[in-house]
Amino acid sequence: GAGSSSDPSVHDDKLLDGLLAAGFDEGPCLSRYQSYAYAKESPFKPSPYLLQRLREYEALHRRCGPPTSAYKRSLGLLKAGSRGASAGVPCKYVVWDPENGLGNRILSIASAFLYALLSQRVLLVIDWSAGLDSLLCEPFPGSTWLLPQDFPLRRLPFSQKYSESYGDLLKWGRIGNYSGGMAGQAFVYVHLSHDYDDYDKRFYCEADQLLLEKIPWMALRSDQYFVPALFLNRAFEGELVRLFPEKEAVFHHLGRYLFHPSNEVWDLITRYYRDHLAGANERLGVQIRVFDGKLRPFHLILRQIINCTLSEKLLPEVDLRRRATPTTGGGPSKAVLLASLHSVFYHKMKGMYSEHPATGGEAVSFHQPSHEEEQRTGSAAHDGKALAEMYLLSMADALVTSSRSTFGYVAQGLAGATPWVLLGPVHESVPEPSCVRDLSPEPCFHFPPNYDCETGARVATTKLLPFTRRCRDFRRGIKLV
Ligand code: GDP
Repeated sequence: GAGSSSDPSVHDDKLLDGLLAAGFDEGPCLSRYQSYAYAKESPFKPSPYLLQRLREYEALHRRCGPPTSAYKRSLGLLKAGSRGASAGVPCKYVVWDPENGLGNRILSIASAFLYALLSQRVLLVIDWSAGLDSLLCEPFPGSTWLLPQDFPLRRLPFSQKYSESYGDLLKWGRIGNYSGGMAGQAFVYVHLSHDYDDYDKRFYCEADQLLLEKIPWMALRSDQYFVPALFLNRAFEGELVRLFPEKEAVFHHLGRYLFHPSNEVWDLITRYYRDHLAGANERLGVQIRVFDGKLRPFHLILRQIINCTLSEKLLPEVDLRRRATPTTGGGPSKAVLLASLHSVFYHKMKGMYSEHPATGGEAVSFHQPSHEEEQRTGSAAHDGKALAEMYLLSMADALVTSSRSTFGYVAQGLAGATPWVLLGPVHESVPEPSCVRDLSPEPCFHFPPNYDCETGARVATTKLLPFTRRCRDFRRGIKLV
């Protein structure tokens, strides 16, 4: 990282091994070409085929995205109503609709992008805060991924109950009514959030994709990392294997390709890194997500963090019988970056290491960029801090994350690092063991379909996909390993 080397150009390639297109104007998005200097060196290389497909996607997006004439023509189809002729449609789109917190959003955008790549669609996103561009840069050169404000379907109430969803059409047998499947239909909504039902899940089936592929406009709502389920479709699987020979690095590549913090957020990140983290020999990131809103078992979680970091030798023991003496510096140092909505862990950990000496003479410092107390997704300043902390965590040498938290998944995925996971949720006692090493840097897909496309029966998705395993932090979830 930048902290250990004064000349960042020596050890890496600012295009991230060709993942990023060259030729963007650097000024409007400094993070795009600067992030390599702060990131830990990636253990994974993108495949040449992924690079080729990304460049092809970018060309497609430039040709079809707003405000091109192709986009306007496609919009005409939508306005003409559902029976507009779809023959000769030049471009197809998937419009991503947000749900849940920033971590969930980032994971599901990445999944929707991969789906767009596989299905030759153009990804457009509905923004949620005071302009998504205050949070993230445009990912595709010479075009925009933001859905224009005057898009006709912008404010539709997409949800599991939305009556024109693909699942609903199947459920009420309305698809058979269209001669030739769904030919002629200009728009469909697919619901892929945690509360989807068996009809919605048919999205993942090969036969259903053959129907859906004819429809130029698709709206997609999800709060999940649904990438693993795309492998269920044999028509996608071969392509996915070529794109990602290292399956445990799918989000690592997609995340670094898509999500570049805006200049405002990048300034938060780089300033914080320089002021607090760069000087240390080593950095440890600890992400603490407390899901038990009312219970707030902070004292148990604190003990859990201490148990975990000591037993896994991520932090040195402290000698509780001695008082710390002021050090002259010069010894080994470790900076611990804490990310949490709450400040209690920071105060306690800092107190422990400042009052007593650490064995080995290591100087341990603690740093927490913000403590927002509660989630306020949609506030640009709040989301900006969350994004900054995900990035700062990803720059650490080792990572401790919280079970079930998509916030932590984003950090570990960007880093390409396999974290130690604090087991939970914590109720009456400290979990034993306090933490375990995860299986891969991939995010966990919390609600896999567990649906057999052939029979409609329930089946464990891990049985169908041998390269997935049940998540260690959330047993009903699965992940690529
Ligand atoms: P998840 O709920 O842990 O899966 O993560 P999400 O990111 O989807 O939603 C949690 C939201 O709460 C975040 O997006 C932030 O808005 C906020 N949040 C949770 N933990 C932190 C934290 O450590 N730092 C900051 N700045 N915000 C947090």
